[in-house]
Amino acid sequence: MKSITYKKHSLKGRLLCAIFGHKFKTIKFITDHFKEFECRICYLQVTNEITDKKVSLTQEHREINRTLIRLYKKKDYQF
Ligand SMILES: [Zn+2]
Repeated sequence: MKSITYKKHSLKGRLLCAIFGHKFKTIKFITDHFKEFECRICYLQVTNEITDKKVSLTQEHREINRTLIRLYKKKDYQF
Protein backbone atom coordinates (compact mmCIF):
# COMPACT_ATOMS: atom_id res chain seq x y z
CA MET A 1 0.00 0.00 0.00
CA LYS A 2 1.32 3.42 -0.92
CA SER A 3 1.77 5.94 1.85
CA ILE A 4 0.99 9.62 1.55
CA THR A 5 3.87 11.95 2.36
CA TYR A 6 3.41 14.88 4.70
CA LYS A 7 6.53 16.81 5.70
CA LYS A 8 4.82 17.88 8.92
CA HIS A 9 1.53 16.89 10.48
CA SER A 10 -0.98 19.70 10.44
CA LEU A 11 -4.49 18.53 11.29
CA LYS A 12 -5.90 22.06 10.98
CA GLY A 13 -4.17 22.44 7.60
CA ARG A 14 -5.51 19.13 6.34
CA LEU A 15 -9.00 20.15 7.39
CA LEU A 16 -8.69 23.51 5.57
CA CYS A 17 -7.39 21.75 2.45
CA ALA A 18 -10.25 19.25 2.56
CA ILE A 19 -12.64 22.20 2.37
CA PHE A 20 -10.80 24.72 0.16
CA GLY A 21 -8.32 22.54 -1.75
CA HIS A 22 -4.52 22.44 -1.60
CA LYS A 23 -2.28 25.44 -2.32
CA PHE A 24 0.72 23.84 -4.02
CA LYS A 25 4.12 25.43 -4.47
CA THR A 26 6.97 23.87 -6.45
CA ILE A 27 9.70 22.49 -4.21
CA LYS A 28 11.84 20.65 -6.77
CA PHE A 29 12.28 20.77 -10.54
CA ILE A 30 12.95 17.26 -11.89
CA THR A 31 12.74 18.00 -15.62
CA ASP A 32 10.93 20.64 -17.65
CA HIS A 33 7.77 18.59 -17.19
CA PHE A 34 8.14 16.77 -13.86
CA LYS A 35 8.18 18.66 -10.59
CA GLU A 36 7.62 18.00 -6.92
CA PHE A 37 5.13 20.15 -5.06
CA GLU A 38 4.23 20.82 -1.46
CA CYS A 39 1.01 22.26 -0.10
CA ARG A 40 1.65 25.51 1.80
CA ILE A 41 -1.21 24.75 4.18
CA CYS A 42 -1.03 21.04 5.10
CA TYR A 43 2.52 20.23 3.81
CA LEU A 44 1.25 17.37 1.60
CA GLN A 45 3.94 16.48 -0.93
CA VAL A 46 2.95 15.42 -4.45
CA THR A 47 4.49 15.00 -7.89
CA ASN A 48 2.95 15.14 -11.34
CA GLU A 49 2.50 12.25 -13.74
CA ILE A 50 2.87 12.31 -17.52
CA THR A 51 -0.84 13.21 -17.76
CA ASP A 52 -0.18 16.24 -15.51
CA LYS A 53 -2.31 14.71 -12.76
CA LYS A 54 -0.88 15.27 -9.26
CA VAL A 55 -0.20 12.11 -7.24
CA SER A 56 1.09 11.58 -3.70
CA LEU A 57 4.85 11.65 -3.48
CA THR A 58 5.59 8.10 -2.35
CA GLN A 59 9.04 6.60 -1.83
CA GLU A 60 8.61 4.94 -5.24
CA HIS A 61 7.97 8.31 -6.92
CA ARG A 62 10.97 9.86 -5.15
CA GLU A 63 13.22 7.12 -6.56
CA ILE A 64 11.77 7.54 -10.07
CA ASN A 65 12.32 11.30 -9.85
CA ARG A 66 15.91 10.85 -8.61
CA THR A 67 16.56 8.54 -11.59
CA LEU A 68 15.00 11.08 -13.95
CA ILE A 69 17.27 13.82 -12.54
CA ARG A 70 20.34 11.64 -13.16
CA LEU A 71 19.26 10.79 -16.72
CA TYR A 72 18.32 14.38 -17.44
CA LYS A 73 21.68 15.70 -16.27
CA LYS A 74 23.69 13.00 -18.05
CA LYS A 75 22.06 12.95 -21.45
CA ASP A 76 20.21 16.25 -21.47
CA TYR A 77 17.00 14.34 -22.23
CA GLN A 78 14.10 16.23 -23.73
CA PHE A 79 10.68 15.27 -22.40
ZN1 LIG B 1 -3.03 21.00 1.54
